[in-house]
Amino acid sequence: MDFQLSDEHRLIRDLARDFARREIAPIAAECDRESRFPMGVWDKLREIGLANLSISTAHGGLGLGVVENVAVTEALGWGCAGIQGAMGIQSIMADITHVAGTDAQRRAIAGRLLEGQWGGYALTEPGAGSDVGAIRTRAVRDGDRYVIDGSKVWISNAPLAHFFVVFAKTDPAAGNKGISAFLVERDAPGVRVGAPLGKLGQRAAPAAEVFLDGVSVPASDRLGAEGEGFLIAMKVFDRSRPMIGALAVGLMQRALDEAVSYAKERHTFGRPIIEHQAIGHKLAEMAMKTHAARLLVSEAAALTDAGTPDPMKAAFAKLFAGDAAMWVATEAVQVFGGMGYSTEYPVEKLFRDAKVLQIYEGTSEIQKTIIARELARR
Ligand SMILES: Cc1cc2nc3c(=O)[nH]c(=O)nc-3n(C[C@H](O)[C@H](O)[C@H](O)COP(=O)(O)OP(=O)(O)OC[C@H]3O[C@@H](n4cnc5c(N)ncnc54)[C@H](O)[C@@H]3O)c2cc1C
Repeated sequence: MDFQLSDEHRLIRDLARDFARREIAPIAAECDRESRFPMGVWDKLREIGLANLSISTAHGGLGLGVVENVAVTEALGWGCAGIQGAMGIQSIMADITHVAGTDAQRRAIAGRLLEGQWGGYALTEPGAGSDVGAIRTRAVRDGDRYVIDGSKVWISNAPLAHFFVVFAKTDPAAGNKGISAFLVERDAPGVRVGAPLGKLGQRAAPAAEVFLDGVSVPASDRLGAEGEGFLIAMKVFDRSRPMIGALAVGLMQRALDEAVSYAKERHTFGRPIIEHQAIGHKLAEMAMKTHAARLLVSEAAALTDAGTPDPMKAAFAKLFAGDAAMWVATEAVQVFGGMGYSTEYPVEKLFRDAKVLQIYEGTSEIQKTIIARELARR
């Protein structure tokens, strides 16, 4: 499968690499310390045309595919997984209307994202994360509107969001087939966003609870047909899982770069530590896993762009890259020795940032379940 970037797209990727080095990496530690998303970075990214890449050209975007998006995500994620993690949710907002929206909904959401508005993807609840079918938020039809009641947790960007895509049960007896998706305005009566949640890593990406108390939305703000919500969420995963994989690859590449450069400079027993075989071999495995993850991510992305998305390949990409990122970041800390444990050096942040890559967008265990199910089915 060919997933090489064209010359033009390579220029876009290189622009993103340069942006990450100049605008993101220098402020990453500070934003992490202050749990602050740097809105100026997003504004600059929009100015140079590197935001909202997947919005179609018909709706004012660049209309780039998942292959180009993962290349840019990796490049920006090298600078900071938290900052890019927050910005990546914006492309999920475009993706969901791409997967399920009417032309009017696509146009409206594209316009709002291009104007600089933020969205939040509200699926998880206190009692339902991996088990999506167990969500309890209810949407009850009332004439040409729905009334939504429930609560969501861990909603990335909720503190910044102008609107949400909320998943709710329209037919509680129908299990996964009873879920529908709705566009919900943040300022609609009955919507309340909680305080930002304290987090281990990726602290520049704010997340919060979202409470919905008798929120009335027009039926025209339902995405897809009634009962299609679960299917929509699964289709979005085909696009978003390679993107999370790409975020992991960016983090791994950063950990590798930092570790190689430290290992060349740090001397013990009269030589740079890179010349001790134990450290050299560690770096070799880090480089290999980073490359392998990049290939898996690129393949899953290319399959989606070709119109043949493969949930097993998307799960390979998310699972391998998420687990490898945690491993690579842990080894980077080891290469730095005591300094790896210090907040003065960048690798302890990479270690903390990596952990959630094994949790959100479907945990590593759930990716294995998907792969096993596909093996049984094929
Ligand atoms: C920083 C952050 C940001 C997030 N952003 C969003 C967001 O924007 N929108 C959103 O909707 N959600 C978001 N989430 C939620 C995230 O997707 C869920 O936390 C995740 O899917 C796991 O669900 P859970 O926390 O309920 O864990 P649980 O489902 O309770 O799982 C607990 C443990 O049991 C394992 N497990 C569960 N079921 C099985 C099974 N069948 N087989 C084997 N093992 C199993 C899990 O792998 C895990 O190890 C975010 C989470 C975090 C931490």
